[in-house]
Amino acid sequence: MHDGSVIESKRRIRILDIPVDRVTRAEAAEIFDALMRTEGCSLIVTPNSEILWNASKDAELKAILSDADLIIPDGIGLVYASRIIGSPLSERVTGIDFLDEALRRLAAAGESIYLLGSAPGIAEKAAERMRAHRPGLRVAGVRHGYYRPEEEAAIVGEINASGAAFLCAALGSPKQERFIHAHREALRVRAAIGVGGSLDVWAGAQKRAPAFFREHGLEWLYRLARQPSRIKRAAALPLFMLRVLASGKR
Ligand code: UDP
Repeated sequence: MHDGSVIESKRRIRILDIPVDRVTRAEAAEIFDALMRTEGCSLIVTPNSEILWNASKDAELKAILSDADLIIPDGIGLVYASRIIGSPLSERVTGIDFLDEALRRLAAAGESIYLLGSAPGIAEKAAERMRAHRPGLRVAGVRHGYYRPEEEAAIVGEINASGAAFLCAALGSPKQERFIHAHREALRVRAAIGVGGSLDVWAGAQKRAPAFFREHGLEWLYRLARQPSRIKRAAALPLFMLRVLASGKR
């Protein structure tokens, strides 16, 4: 269905043999517009070091990321890794910033979105604040992300019935990427993205890192300080960097 033609091949680099797109924020937004004009459900992923590290050990996740139409480098670890392998990325494009730009564009076009994921009540709150901050944006439906596997087909039916053009899946990785990929043929949205904890931030349930942390690529440190239980997840960053250093070129 998708031949990847929206992304020129020279934009795509490989880190630990996993593809990542060399895009600036502005370029990612332009590609988003193009994908929204393309037939079928485009898959947008926002891997950070943790996701790339997991994908390097999980063939299914690697295959899903490789199948995506836009692979946004969401993390300073990817930028450092890209320099180490001699194919520097232009800049880091965080998933939450990309989502906001997408929402602005969808609002301007009067397009509708569906919010799937996070704890009960969060998607509703996120929808309320998105509507208030991005006038013109239509939220066609919301659903929390704690469901049984056998409910998935009905959820896809609900998303399609809502008529939404864009799906935000906030189920955590790799659940969100797996969900979109597994139902890509059935989904009638024009694009879908895995947004991790972004609905929690929109809902005001989680704070975004202050400017200093964001500007220095230290979001991971801020989140770790607020939620020390993330220590195991944060450990993926140094492991990922060591693997990139050891691998030399790939
Ligand atoms: N989540 C969900 N269903 C699940 C597991 C997680 O909806 O079965 C949600 C969770 O409530 C949170 C998001 O997925 O809102 C994942 O957040 P996380 O902090 O892992 O994402 P990150 O931004 O670090 O990728």
